[in-house]
Parts: sequence; structure tokens; C-alpha cells
Amino acid sequence: MADRTFLDWPFFEDRHRALAEALEGWCDTNLPVDHSDLDAACRDLVAALGQGGWLTHSGGDNLDVRTLCLIRETLARHDALADFAFAMQGLGMGAVSLFGSDAQREWLERTRAGEAISAFALTEPGSGSDVANTATTAERVEGGYRLTGEKTYISNGGIADLYVMFARTGEAPGAKGLSAFLMPADTEGLSVAERIDVIAPHPLARLRMEGAFLPDEALIGKPGDGFKLAMSVLDVFRPTVGAAALGMARRALDEAMARVTERQVQGAPLASLQLVQGHIADMALKIDAAALLVYRAAWTKDQGAPRVSREAAMAKLYATEAAQEVIDAAVQLHGGDGVRHGEKVEELYREIRALRIYEGASDVQRLVIARSVLG
Ligand SMILES: Cc1cc2nc3c(=O)[nH]c(=O)nc-3n(C[C@H](O)[C@H](O)[C@H](O)COP(=O)(O)OP(=O)(O)OC[C@H]3O[C@@H](n4cnc5c(N)ncnc54)[C@H](O)[C@@H]3O)c2cc1C
Repeated sequence: MADRTFLDWPFFEDRHRALAEALEGWCDTNLPVDHSDLDAACRDLVAALGQGGWLTHSGGDNLDVRTLCLIRETLARHDALADFAFAMQGLGMGAVSLFGSDAQREWLERTRAGEAISAFALTEPGSGSDVANTATTAERVEGGYRLTGEKTYISNGGIADLYVMFARTGEAPGAKGLSAFLMPADTEGLSVAERIDVIAPHPLARLRMEGAFLPDEALIGKPGDGFKLAMSVLDVFRPTVGAAALGMARRALDEAMARVTERQVQGAPLASLQLVQGHIADMALKIDAAALLVYRAAWTKDQGAPRVSREAAMAKLYATEAAQEVIDAAVQLHGGDGVRHGEKVEELYREIRALRIYEGASDVQRLVIARSVLG
């Protein structure tokens, strides 16, 4: 059983502790799910998380970042695909939660109930970290915009009911000339160009827009606000990526603890060897340090800080990098079984990797931190 003493930290209120306990029970009953049909598994997970009431926390007027983090941490510890399903409902609708019009917010009822699946479409074949290089255009036409271009590595691509799409409207060069749009998946001119398979499979796709028309009401916020809006969404959701990594790291430590106490080497459990104890100590230390940074960022945002870019970057950078190290140590302590398909630590080893890349790669987080430190 993963360490839960962190719930006593002053970052949390009793409502958070109650939620964590209730979610633990839900996970024990409902997770893990069978991943063999990925699309079906994700649709079922979104529906189940909606029915369980957990998705009410994924979007809306007052996003509570500590709650988002606790849910992601707990789900990721049980089943990374469940965390993915929850996280994308939040990230996908983040721009609508923070900046959407009343009409756009009507979609939140469906995503929060698990009746519609959302996605966040920023990355392109020619621009990932370098958002300023976005090439997709939104051309102004009578009554709206026509979007043309490609988006790639879009989570939920192919199964989403709606996408928040970022495109160049050209108010200024670079990042200041982007806008965000709410695009239903059945919009004419939008298609799935390719489904993408990755080491830890999730629904993922490259999307193509060929003059896809959106009415004026699809614009989220003001023209030219796209980059600012995307960064505000990431301020909320980057600490939650750290939280997911934390959940995976806690699970890896649990698996390692079970292994080293049971596995006999030289007539005694592995855990009796001091070098092994050293690994366990390092893993526990990294987990606590990651948790402190994650919940510091979440608490700071929940106290009303308008931007928490530095705290969010520190949380995401440290927690994802530390989780990779913790999981790697757990694989090592499992010996040959650690790299065997079907072993939990082998699954975690694949699952953690992309978290150091998406929503701002680790080096991009370092840049954010350095900019803040150097002023
Ligand atoms: C599983 C998965 C899911 C994803 N889901 C989504 C999604 O739902 N929506 C979405 O829009 N995108 C998504 N992405 C895309 C993801 O956000 C990008 O892959 C990421 O931003 C990196 O962009 P890139 O792949 O173009 O790499 P590049 O931008 O080419 O960067 C490659 C590497 O170069 C280094 N680097 C880049 N810029 C700098 C810099 N300024 N300083 C120092 N080093 C730098 C970093 O090490 C980086 O990892 C997903 C990606 C994956 C793998």
C-alpha cells in the first residue's frame, strides 16, 4: 500500500483527504481495465469516471489543482490509462473552463459527465516546443474562420468528440498571432490523417484540416490570445503531469518493496542488503521531494496566484525525471522479471517516458525556471 502520510501535509483540507479515500475505493473496484482494445477502453474509462462523479473535477468554474493532482496521482498509481482518460478531459477542456463563453461552457456538462471526449491540439509536425512556429492558419471569412493545417501527437485524436484547436490568425508575428477554437470532431474538412502507435499506447493521432469552417462563436477568448491562453492552461495542468508521474513512482516503490522483501538472495531477503536499502531510501526521498513540489504548485495556484509558471515547471520537471529514476530502480531490483512484458514495473517503465516530453519537454521546463530565476 502506497504511503498516504502526505495527506496530512498542510497543503490539504479535509475535503481532499475524503476525496482521496473515496477514489482509492473506486479504483480498487474498477481498475485496472483491459487495454487490448485501446479506443474502447478509453471510451469506457471516460464513461465510468463520469458515472463515478470524478470528471466533475476535470473542468468548470473553479478548478481545484490539488484535487486534479490527487485524482491523477491516485489513478496513475492504479492504471495509467485511467489517468490519461481523466487528464485529457481536463486538459482538453482547460481553455473552455478558464476562458470559454457561456455557449462553449455547455460542452463542459457533457465532458464532466463522461458523455463527450475532449482533446487539446497544439503540436504540429513542424512545431512542438516551438509554439511560435505554428503553421496552421485560421483565415477570416464571412461569419467565421477556415482552418488549414496539420496537428500531430494529439491525445484522444480519433476518439475525441471535440478539439481545442490552435491556429494562426496573424494579429502579430510568432506566438502573439495565434488563436484558440473549439472544433467538434464532425466538422467538415477535419480528418484523422494517421493513428500513431507509441511505446505506452494511448489513442493518439495526426489530424488534418482542409479549409475546415468554424463560426465566430467557436473562437475561445479574443483573436491573438491563443498563446497566452495555452500557457494559462498549462500552468494549471503541468503540476498534474507531475502528479501522474508521482503516482507511477509510488506504484514502482510499492512493487519494489514487495519484491525485495519476498525475493531471497544469499539466504536472506534482498531487503536485508544495505545496497538495496540505499536504493529504497533514494526512491522514497525522490517521491517525497516530488510530492512537495507538486502540491506546493497546486496549493499556490489554489490560493489564487494568477500565474504559477515557475512552480508548475519545477513540479513537472522534477516529478517526471524523478519518477523515471524511481521506476528504473524498481526495474533493476526486479532483475530479469523487470523487463518482462506483463510485469507492472515494465509497464511503468514505458508509461513514464512520454511525460518528460509532452506539455513542455524537460529542457523547456528548465528554460522556464531559469527565466524566472534570472528575471
Ligand atoms: C504520448 C504523447 C502525447 C502527446 N499529446 C499531445 C496532445 O494531446 N496535444 C498536443 O498538442 N501535443 C501533444 N504531444 C506533443 C508534445 O507536446 C510534443 O511532442 C512536445 O511538445 C515536444 O515537441 P516535439 O515533439 O516537436 O519536439 P521538439 O520541439 O523537436 O523538441 C525535441 C527536443 O529538443 C529539446 N528542445 C526543444 N526546444 C528546446 C529549447 N528551447 N531549449 C532546449 N532544448 C529544447 C528537448 O529536449 C525536446 O525534447 C504529445 C506527445 C506525446 C509523445
